[in-house]
Amino acid sequence: MSLNPSLVPDDGKKIRDRAMVKRIISLFRPHKRMVVLTTIAVSIGVALGLLPPFLIEHIIDAGIQARNLQVIATYSIIAVVAVALGAGVTLLYGFWSCVVGQRIMCDLRRQLFTHLQRMSLKFFTATRTGEVQTRLINDVQGVQTVVSNTITDQLSNLGIAVSTFIAMTILDWRLTLLSVGLVPFFALFGVWFGNFARKVKLGTQEQTAELNSMMQETLSVSGILLTKTTGRQDVLTGKFDVENEKLAGWQIKSTLVQYMFFGLIRLITQLAPAVYWFAGWLMISHGDTSLTIGKLVAFTALQIRMFFPLTALLNAQVEIMASFALFERIFAYVDMPVDVEDKPDAERLQHAVGRVEFEDVSFSYESGARTLSDISFVAEPGQLVALVGPSGAGKTTLTYLIPRLYDVDSGSVVIDGHDVRNLRLEDLAANVGAVTQETYLLHTTVRENLRVAKPDATDEEIEEACRSAAIHDHIASLPEGYGTVVGERGYKLSGGEKQRLAIARAILKNPRILILDE
Ligand code: ATP
Repeated sequence: MSLNPSLVPDDGKKIRDRAMVKRIISLFRPHKRMVVLTTIAVSIGVALGLLPPFLIEHIIDAGIQARNLQVIATYSIIAVVAVALGAGVTLLYGFWSCVVGQRIMCDLRRQLFTHLQRMSLKFFTATRTGEVQTRLINDVQGVQTVVSNTITDQLSNLGIAVSTFIAMTILDWRLTLLSVGLVPFFALFGVWFGNFARKVKLGTQEQTAELNSMMQETLSVSGILLTKTTGRQDVLTGKFDVENEKLAGWQIKSTLVQYMFFGLIRLITQLAPAVYWFAGWLMISHGDTSLTIGKLVAFTALQIRMFFPLTALLNAQVEIMASFALFERIFAYVDMPVDVEDKPDAERLQHAVGRVEFEDVSFSYESGARTLSDISFVAEPGQLVALVGPSGAGKTTLTYLIPRLYDVDSGSVVIDGHDVRNLRLEDLAANVGAVTQETYLLHTTVRENLRVAKPDATDEEIEEACRSAAIHDHIASLPEGYGTVVGERGYKLSGGEKQRLAIARAILKNPRILILDE
């Protein structure tokens, strides 16, 4: 376990961080009204919290020392009311900040989800499902405390620290100087720890994604099938142990950072006795009469009031900087360029005639060798065109180019005289249907699996499509008929039955251009 990542931020990183802070703040913009309300409530809370120490000063000097019960009672009641009101306000802004935080979480998840949906097949073939899920769930979850509690709490803490500092200075500037003199040094340590915590957080999330991906791959139906048929349980457990240990290592580092930091800030709170010594020296040796017992008690009450928010502020600095690592991962996904998307002036094609033409089409997957070279052919409307070739020749790839799952490298795919790249993706999807080699079934009923192709299909239409695909009799013979839940990825059905369901889906959708891959 190494503990010495470089902690000196470079200029480029500082600029990137500044841009990121702006971007994080912009997440709050749509919830401006609530943020303003929260800020007002926080300010009221801070002001109310400042009252009791001053009231204590009066209770001691003008009440207890002057033996005036009336003053003691009045000021005590005011103090109790202020505390009760403060508690009410705290509850209110706690609730509001939680609402703002949750809305931001929703916005982030939605932004990520919709952006991922726009990504082309290329992205998904190159990325592990577990990695995508980790960003969408764990990373977003990880920034939740920062956006819902940390920011509001720190607003309140900052208010408390600043106002208490002013109040302390009003009471006695000399004691104040002694109390807070060391704070800037601790703030510097906070930055140092923050950078360290950020690296630890990044490592933890990357390792979580690794473990999630591994579990996703091995604990899915297909994964278990592969493991059991190849007898690889031991090997996989070994691999799991390695990754699992690595994650534990990162978590230990993360806890260690917290302990080191808390140990350091505890030092600040050890300064209280020094104030008594200094005050005593001023009062006894210098005969300073401006310092009264009531003032000293009020001052130490304020001092205690300031330590907690100061400690929390320094800790939040570490927390916020650590959350940058998560925001970095989230924003990296949101900013991924979409390679296949609608042109701004994309043409409509609501009802295609169905003439498909390939003009000198060439295509290669990112990895290199050309998969398709100068392919040209025409499929006339109503014509059944069969592509024949050895395994790996590129038949499936060729069909992917029609609904723009990938874009051609050169040449063009043309439907009814329109280059598919100029058409709206939504119209392309409506006019092109495909029965792929692998049938993907959702973990729901047969009926709902068929409605994926046509959400408003009636039960009669569904039955009709299944009759045409020669699967109706089998479905009807199942105990719950069309209401039977098929397992994840359709593992309760045979390969042939799944393919028939896929054909029934295609029939339901009834596209002008139908692709049948095997
Ligand atoms: P089969 O008859 O076995 O289904 P096919 O003719 O449909 O084969 P394709 O699936 O189109 O062949 O694959 C064509 C070539 O492209 C193969 O060599 C394959 O390895 C490669 N290939 C397929 N998908 C990808 C991908 N996502 N990334 C890189 N290469 C790929």
